[in-house]
Amino acid sequence: MIREGAIRIPFKYAAGRAGSRFLVALRDGMRIIASRCETCARVAVPLRTFCPACGGDDLAEVEVGPGGTILAWTETPDAGSYALVRLDGADTAFLHRLVAAPAGCRIGHRVRVRFASSRRASILDIDGFEPVTGEAR
Ligand SMILES: [Zn+2]
Repeated sequence: MIREGAIRIPFKYAAGRAGSRFLVALRDGMRIIASRCETCARVAVPLRTFCPACGGDDLAEVEVGPGGTILAWTETPDAGSYALVRLDGADTAFLHRLVAAPAGCRIGHRVRVRFASSRRASILDIDGFEPVTGEAR
């Protein structure tokens, strides 16, 4: 016998210094901030306290997006579509849902971030990515 159910697991965690700055920038300015490593020039999003490529900690805060290019995407029957997007100005991929999958969605399709109308310093301050029509790379 198999019984189905759902377990609710409320939790809280400290977003940390960089994570908190990233979330506040989303909430207050609808800005997506990243870290640019002064050693290797890699731009990582979201904002970090160290470079994921070289481990350096001499970082500058930069804004990336809101446009980007789909690197990979998937569609699920129950949870919708999600995409890994390289935001303009970033070297790393950013995962979020596709609020509207581009027609004939494919790698290289251009999208842009759609921000939520009501924001509360959460990753859901971004509704997701929406297609930019007529633009492909
Ligand atoms: Zn680096």
